[in-house]
Amino acid sequence: MSLPKLGFIGIGRMGMPMARRLIQAGYSVVVFDPNAEAVKSLVKEGATGAENPAEVATNSEVILLSLPTPDIVDAVAFGENGIVYGVDSDTQKTVIDLSTTGPEGARALAEGLSSKGIKSIDCPVSGGVGGAEKGTLALMASGDPSVVENVGDVLKVLGNSFLVGPEPGMGQMIKVINNLVSVTALAITSEALVLGTKAGLNPDVMVDVFNASSGQSNASLTKIPKFVLTRSFDFGFALDLSVKDARLCLEQSEALGVPMVVGSAVREMLKITKAKLGPQADMTSIIQPVEEWAGIKVRGANAKPENS
Ligand code: NAD
Repeated sequence: MSLPKLGFIGIGRMGMPMARRLIQAGYSVVVFDPNAEAVKSLVKEGATGAENPAEVATNSEVILLSLPTPDIVDAVAFGENGIVYGVDSDTQKTVIDLSTTGPEGARALAEGLSSKGIKSIDCPVSGGVGGAEKGTLALMASGDPSVVENVGDVLKVLGNSFLVGPEPGMGQMIKVINNLVSVTALAITSEALVLGTKAGLNPDVMVDVFNASSGQSNASLTKIPKFVLTRSFDFGFALDLSVKDARLCLEQSEALGVPMVVGSAVREMLKITKAKLGPQADMTSIIQPVEEWAGIKVRGANAKPENS
């Protein structure tokens, strides 16, 4: 059976390595991003560039999206030269939305696409840029199980899929919950490291102890040793997106009447960090305001030199 023609819209930190893996797996991939440099670089690797989302839709059967916000997903699908203007009634198209947009965004997308005869699955991902490069992402798919099954081979190139449920938005729900759990671990571990360092403890040893003890988390195993103790702060997830994810989760907690006291405090820490360092600073820099307040920096043995 021949491979379906793929489209990929949103060639950013996550989209670039995902689209690259699909090209390397033998798929023909049509790409669009307003960042012409990103498109050019994938075209060199075998992709075909398109001028807008409608052109991507016309030239592909399965269209993957990896976009920053629900508003941008909406504009790409339904706005000027959007996906819906690139379809005809003869070819069945499927949209896989890999972006984090929250349950409401996912439901609106599925509804709008379905009214134009386009199938879709809500499929946010977790695992960061490293997971996108290695093809080890967790893909939280929700929607019609037969549609998810039909694109199973495409998803396999990107990571491990979980069929979360039959309704669009269910994938988003677990995704925004997961991200609040994850950033909460990062925030508390960051505060703890500042405290320990001020008390005279060695931060590398502290992280080793967490990782052998009950304080272990993805933050202590990966984000802190690789991107905080080294002072590189380049995990690859912008604060702006992390603030968005926390908002999307807390909107759901409010709508469903479930208080999230801890999550709300973490959201405030993210907002403070974003106000201080800017929307494009990395989420791992959430430690920096705490360091500033405490008057101390947490530097591991492998930290890059100050001011480099
Ligand atoms: P990014 O900002 O690096 O990439 C987004 C891309 O979308 C950019 O290349 C941008 O030019 C493009 N874009 C913006 N407007 C567009 C438009 N109108 N049409 C087409 N393209 C447009 O973001 P990212 O880190 O790659 O994240 C993408 C999505 O994946 C987000 O929803 C994010 O929350 C989610 N996510 C990110 C990570 C991560 O670690 N970076 C992990 C899991 C999920």
